[in-house]
Amino acid sequence: MISETLQNAINEQIKAELDSSYLYLAMAAWCESVNFKGFAKWFEKQAEEENAHAKRFYEYLVDRGGRVILKGLDTPPADFGSVEKAFQQTLDHERHVTARINKIYDMARNEKDFATQEMLNWFVKEQVEEEATAEEMLAQTRMAEGRPGNLLYLDRHAGKRGDA
Ligand code: MG
Repeated sequence: MISETLQNAINEQIKAELDSSYLYLAMAAWCESVNFKGFAKWFEKQAEEENAHAKRFYEYLVDRGGRVILKGLDTPPADFGSVEKAFQQTLDHERHVTARINKIYDMARNEKDFATQEMLNWFVKEQVEEEATAEEMLAQTRMAEGRPGNLLYLDRHAGKRGDA
């Protein structure tokens, strides 16, 4: 059985992952509103991944005999200003999520909860990928900002995310 402290931390993390999903869905909706269909699809995929992260924590808590308690989500912004700014916010957000996961890891280590540490190892690796991807998208859109042709090229490319 998982400790109450870790149960609370994981419930908070389920909310954080769903907040991430909601934030990326808001970014997708904003991209749609400015006719960047490719970036919109990219953020939709990102939102789906965050839902899967929430589900992963949810299932883990159930498996450990914990109680899942869902909380209300934060309202995301409606406007992101530019694609570059949206990716900057994506990177900032992923760094924030990494810090949260590291904090839970530290709690699990102090409690000698090895199962939770093992579960979190997947997320530690995933966050390395999340930050690297966000940094790459930010660097590319930063180079393309002010050059509509280049931005449209990136939009097309981003729309292929997840295609075989
Ligand atoms: Mg996540």
